[in-house]
Amino acid sequence: MNPILLVEDSAMLGRLAKAKIEQAFDTSVYWCKSLADADNLLKRAGGNFSMALLDFNLPDAPYGEVIDRVVSEGISSLVFTSDMTNEVRKQVWSKKVADYILKEDPNCLDYIIAAMKQLVENENTLVLVVDDSKSQRTAISDLLYVHKYRVLNAKDGETALAILEQYPEIKLVITDYHMPGMDGCKLCQRIREKYKHDRLAIIGLSSEEDRTLGARFVKSGANDFLVKQSFLVEEFYCRITHCLDILHLIEKNREGAIKDFLTGIYNRRYFFDQGEKLLADCQEKNRNLFCTMLDLDFFKNINDQYGHDAGDQVLKHFAALLTGETESKEIVARIGGEEFCILSPDFPADEYRLKVEKLRKTIAASPVTVPSNKTTIQVTASIGWAQLPAESLDTLLQAADANLYLAKEHGRNCAVG
Ligand code: GH3
Ligand code: MG
Ligand code: MG
Repeated sequence: MNPILLVEDSAMLGRLAKAKIEQAFDTSVYWCKSLADADNLLKRAGGNFSMALLDFNLPDAPYGEVIDRVVSEGISSLVFTSDMTNEVRKQVWSKKVADYILKEDPNCLDYIIAAMKQLVENENTLVLVVDDSKSQRTAISDLLYVHKYRVLNAKDGETALAILEQYPEIKLVITDYHMPGMDGCKLCQRIREKYKHDRLAIIGLSSEEDRTLGARFVKSGANDFLVKQSFLVEEFYCRITHCLDILHLIEKNREGAIKDFLTGIYNRRYFFDQGEKLLADCQEKNRNLFCTMLDLDFFKNINDQYGHDAGDQVLKHFAALLTGETESKEIVARIGGEEFCILSPDFPADEYRLKVEKLRKTIAASPVTVPSNKTTIQVTASIGWAQLPAESLDTLLQAADANLYLAKEHGRNCAVG
C-alpha cells in the first residue's frame, strides 16, 4: 500500500493521527504542517499516496486551499475541520473530498480510521454506471473514483446486461431512467431475473419532474433511488455505503453458514450439499470422482500435551495446507473435529494415487509452529480414499472411511485406497 499523506498544523493532533493511522495500516504516514510543505512533497512524490487526511484550516491556507492541491493529484482525501457551518460544508463537498470529520468529536480518529479502511476496501468493489448521457456517466463515475471504487460504464440497458454477464463480481448498479431501448425500471426487472438482492444492489436515478419514479424503481427491484438533479454528494455516498454494507452483511452471513468457524474452510453442511450435486453430475457424465478422508493421528495427545489452543492452531494449519495442496475444482471440508474430507473430480486413478501420497508426505514434513507455546508440533495424518462407482455420497464416504480405518490399523501416517 502506498503511504498516506497527513497535513495538519496542530502538533498534538498530528502526532496522534500519524501514530493511530500507522498502527491501523501497513504503511507510513508523511506528515506536513502547511500547504507549502505539502506542495513541496507533492512536487517530489506526485500522486503516489494511497489517500490523504487534510486540515481545512492551515496557517498558510485558511480556507481549504490544501484540498485543491492534493485532490488535483487524484488523491482521495478526508478533511479535518473544526468549523462545520453550512457554508464550509458546501465548500468542502464542492472540492471532491471523500468525507469530512469534525475535530471536536472525541471519536474523530476512530471515524477516520474506519473511513480509510472503507476506502481501501472500495478498491475491490466494482460498480456499474448505466446512463445514455456521457456527461452524466462521467459525473457519477468521478464521484465513485473519489471513494476509490472500481467503475464500469454502460450507455444502455442491453450493454449493462452484457457487462454484468462478463463481470459477475459487480456489486452495485447505478442506473438512469430515461434511456433509449430499455428504461431504467425495465433494466432493474431484467437484472433481478438473474441477480437477486443478496448478490447485487441497484440504485435508480429518479428525476425531479417525475416524483413517482423513485417508488417505481424500488418496485422494479432497485434497493434505493436518488433524485438526479438535486442529490447532495454526501447523501450519494451515504446511500451507496448503506446498500453495500447490507450486501456485505448478507455475504458474511452466507459465509458463516457454509464455512467452518475455526479453520475458514467449508463445513460439513456445505460438503454434503455440494458433494451430492457433484456426485450426481459425475455419475451422469461418467466422470471420475475420488473421496478422500483424512484424520490427524493421536490428535488428542496434542491437546493434552500442548493445550486446546495449540490444538486449534494445528487444525488451522492443517486446513490451510489442504487448501494449498488442492485445486479449485476439488471440495475440501472439515467434516468433524479432526476429520477432513476432499472430493476430487476428474483425476486419472494413477495420478490421484500419487497426489494422495504426496499430500501425506507434505503433511508429515510440515510441522506447526505455535508461537504462544514457543514450540513446533509434528503432525501426521492417516488417509483413506475411494472412488466411483458408488450408490451415493454416503456409501462413497463409508468406503473411504473403511480405508481410513485400515490406515490407522497399519500404524497411521499412511494412505490406503
Ligand atoms: P487417532 O490417531 O486414532 O485418530 O487418535 P486421535 O487422538 O486423533 O483421535 P480421538 O478421536 O481419540 O481424539 C480426537 C480429539 O480431537 C479429541 C478432541 O478433543 C479433539 N478435537 C475435536 N475437535 C477439536 C477442536 O476443534 N479443537 C481442538 N483443539 N481439539 C479438537
Ligand atoms: Mg438519460
Ligand atoms: Mg485422529
